[in-house]
Amino acid sequence: MYLIGHAAVGASIVTALGVTNPTAAFCIGWASHYLADFFPHGDEPVGVWAKRGNEVYRLIAIAAVDGALFLAVFGFFTVRHGFDLVAAAAALGSFVPDVLWGLEKLFKKKLFGFHERFHFLNHNFFHIRLPLWLGIIFQLAVTTSLWWWLMR
Ligand SMILES: [Zn+2]
Repeated sequence: MYLIGHAAVGASIVTALGVTNPTAAFCIGWASHYLADFFPHGDEPVGVWAKRGNEVYRLIAIAAVDGALFLAVFGFFTVRHGFDLVAAAAALGSFVPDVLWGLEKLFKKKLFGFHERFHFLNHNFFHIRLPLWLGIIFQLAVTTSLWWWLMR
């Protein structure tokens, strides 16, 4: 799932639970990543596309667009609500598993072996492959409705 979607899931869970402690929010956000990854979300074609070229550059390009969209949405959220440290901590926590994975790609080294096995065991648990367009529509629906709810 894209980072903007992970951030939406993490921030929504801590908001729904009424979490006030940023450290707890960070941990819940982190855990929410595996929960969100569990469902099929059609990212596989993106990974295949990345591997067809310079994988690191292509992943950086995707992360840059994704990160910019997240910052734009979070900026808008901040304008409406003021800076919400708990939501920010949950969003950052929700990025951790993919950041660890990205560091392994960047350094071309297995740095977090146990974590990667866990992350990918859990990733799309049922191995249902959605076509890219369906995955994008699904993620867009989840992401926009959660951010919509957070913005209210
Ligand atoms: Zn993941």
